[in-house]
Amino acid sequence: MKPFFDIQAQYQMYKEEINQAIQEVLDSGNFIMGLQVKMLESELESYTGAKHCVTCANGTDALQIAMMAIGIKPGDEVITTPFTFIATAETIALLGAKPVFVDIEESSFLIDADLIAEKITPRTKAIIPVSLYGQVADMDAINKMAKEHSHKLGHKIYVIEDAAQSFGAEYKGNKSCNVSDIATTSFFPTKPLGCYGDGGAIFTSNDEIAQKMREIRVHGQSKRYYHTSVGVNSRLDTIQAAVLLVKLRYFDQEIEIRRKRAQEYFKQYQGTEIVTPIELQGRKHVYGQYTVRVKDRESFQERLKLQGIPTTIHYPVPLNKQPAFEDKYAFCPVSDRLSDEVLSLPMCLYSE
Ligand SMILES: *Cc1c(COP(=O)(O)O)cnc(C)c1O
Repeated sequence: MKPFFDIQAQYQMYKEEINQAIQEVLDSGNFIMGLQVKMLESELESYTGAKHCVTCANGTDALQIAMMAIGIKPGDEVITTPFTFIATAETIALLGAKPVFVDIEESSFLIDADLIAEKITPRTKAIIPVSLYGQVADMDAINKMAKEHSHKLGHKIYVIEDAAQSFGAEYKGNKSCNVSDIATTSFFPTKPLGCYGDGGAIFTSNDEIAQKMREIRVHGQSKRYYHTSVGVNSRLDTIQAAVLLVKLRYFDQEIEIRRKRAQEYFKQYQGTEIVTPIELQGRKHVYGQYTVRVKDRESFQERLKLQGIPTTIHYPVPLNKQPAFEDKYAFCPVSDRLSDEVLSLPMCLYSE
């Protein structure tokens, strides 16, 4: 059976350029915060339109650093979706705050903006919508609600987009990572823009928050051996930045291949019992995952397997049902149901 992600095929496409880029880092010896890290941050700022890009070690740390920068602390509540990868809620809990789960929309798998207001309390400090599978949630509605409730509560409710699966996507003409107060992404190899190890980045157009995040990323230091706050060690390796600089040149082309594959799947399954994903009004979906819904998932998965087509389930258990976060007060029937129906199909960008 083919692999679900054709990482090797992609490397073969850009092999010479990537080898050379890595070789340059080896020759320079600047493995930590080398020139390529700065160059990548500046290119990602231009690409997204966000004023600041702060790279870091992975997409999970990106979430944690963003929340540390806005002062999320024990007792705070952060609203998010249960229909996501564990990292979104895990980092909230690691900071001692409480993930408050809001159900999703059936048509898009994204947090239902209409259900957020009823979960806001005086302890709510942030909302983390996840741009799941590569499509941005209803950011205008979410930003507007956060602003209204910030006024009522007398403290700011920040909106943090978890864009780990949606780098390159668009919402009303603006790029994912530039549609909220802060955004985080991941460069894990299988994400839309992936490196060859772990990597991540945080985006904001707020100067003060950007400065805090830069300090937190390196032990809370403002200059060498001077520490203004308690931070972490979470830098992006120069070698990974060099790989990403090469891959960024081909990134828009890859998005178009993803969108073409999606179109082909749509044609193939139109009129069958397989429900294909939709691109919402005003959005550009990058299909970080191509995830369909099917009532009898097991037999469909088995049928594909016999044809040599690998599939994956993103995700089999919603976070409010995970032992780590068990929350019987989080009523999320749509999320519960869809977790039994979703199946991701391979994108195979370069394997044919
Ligand atoms: C992958 C992912 C993360 C975490 O990124 P890592 O780089 O693996 O730490 C966070 N949120 C979502 C939605 C993800 O898909």
